[in-house]
Amino acid sequence: MRCRGCGYELFDIEPGPCPECGREFSPLEFRFKPRRVGFLCPACGHGYQGLDVDGLPHPKQFVCKECGAQVDAAHMIVTLPEGARADDVMVLESPWEGRKEIGVVKAFWRTLGWSFVRPEAVTRDLEKQGRVTDAFRFATRVYALVILVYAGFIGAVSLIFAGGFTIGGSLTGLGMAILMMLLVSGVFIFVWIPLWALAAHGVLKITGEKRGGYGLTLRALLYAQGPTIVGVLPYCGHFIGGVWSTISAAMMIKAAQRVHGGRATMAALVMPLASIGAVVVFYGWLLYIAGAQFGNLSMATRVGPSPIGMALLERVGDDGSTVDHVLDLVDGRANRAQMLIWPQRVYIQGAGMDLPLPENRTIQDLRDMDVEEIRALREALANNDDFYSFCGMIYAHRRVDFNAAPADLIIAYSSPAFVDATYPWIMAIKADGSNWSYYETDWIDELRNQDALREELGLPMLPWESDLPPTLEDLFGGAASEDNAPPF
Ligand SMILES: [Zn+2]
Ligand SMILES: [Zn+2]
Repeated sequence: MRCRGCGYELFDIEPGPCPECGREFSPLEFRFKPRRVGFLCPACGHGYQGLDVDGLPHPKQFVCKECGAQVDAAHMIVTLPEGARADDVMVLESPWEGRKEIGVVKAFWRTLGWSFVRPEAVTRDLEKQGRVTDAFRFATRVYALVILVYAGFIGAVSLIFAGGFTIGGSLTGLGMAILMMLLVSGVFIFVWIPLWALAAHGVLKITGEKRGGYGLTLRALLYAQGPTIVGVLPYCGHFIGGVWSTISAAMMIKAAQRVHGGRATMAALVMPLASIGAVVVFYGWLLYIAGAQFGNLSMATRVGPSPIGMALLERVGDDGSTVDHVLDLVDGRANRAQMLIWPQRVYIQGAGMDLPLPENRTIQDLRDMDVEEIRALREALANNDDFYSFCGMIYAHRRVDFNAAPADLIIAYSSPAFVDATYPWIMAIKADGSNWSYYETDWIDELRNQDALREELGLPMLPWESDLPPTLEDLFGGAASEDNAPPF
């Protein structure tokens, strides 16, 4: 009859606070073997036997036949008869260890349920009964149940979707899946948990007193596998099961080894935390390796549809023809002009990134231009070239049949002339209107891909940096700012 809080032996002590830890106790929270202990009247000390199935007085309230006082069993002192051993008069709690008495199936389900809601009750009496093999038996049954549910699910799905001819094939697949799950579960139960117990027990050993040896800690962790059964639920089942099982593990270690919650929690967490740490370090290392070879990795990133690309696509006529010049999109269409003109910077939509451009290369004044002025600019910007530079962008959409163009074909891209160490990316707009970013060292490869694609389509190659089309700056000899406006 040990205190639930600290394990202090409570025979012959008046119900109330535990003398050791102060936790309130009453005889009613314990189970005794019938007629094996005495219950004393609080008023006169007359002894009564425990007659009901829990070995407690029956009824719970009665009038003392000796002194006539009203007695409540909750306030009676429990006394151990002379010569009796404390452990012999108690009904031990762990249902699984006592499965021979209550039946294996009932014992399993009760232990499983308790492993969720009252884990301490499962392991409180472990030191007094059972062996490590009993705990392994419980854990393997939990995992077998999970595998059974999975196998049933996979089997049902493959039978429904595979049909008669491939049932043989499905069965082979199912067999492989079951074999795989058995292997993983086996490693988990017989390798991982013993290691986990070793780490947990090490923590208990370093931090102070405990009740039993490594085997006791191992058994607590094996019983703590009960909640992993939640893993059969889809999506976050494994996560909930894992967290719940770890919480149960801490409480089970606390009850089995009679240690404080803090020590038990530390013991239960040291291995899971260490493995999470190891995973983080491992991924960090992978990223570091990847980072060292940054330039060799393809860093193309899709960043969502671009207004420029969409504007070009929207102008595709029924015959598949598109605009001759990107300024045709501006011509007489104020709202389109807004899509094309990017004040000071080309903004890459969706990614929230700015592509810095030298101020004097932007033509934000274009929005205020009238149609005549735009036409003059269009003429200055080499109307007949296959490519032209505009607003820090190279346009390559001329002669492209948008109805037949592969989605991969680049129709505009940010000028590589502006790439520098602070922003080593080139933004490209593809024929489906999408935006892509290329790390500068990958751009050469992409140019080669584009050249091959363009050759197939009978289109002119994209210009290399050395022979890019003229920019506004080239055309007008300097900045297109208010002080140095284009001559139109
Ligand atoms: Zn106590
Ligand atoms: Zn009495």
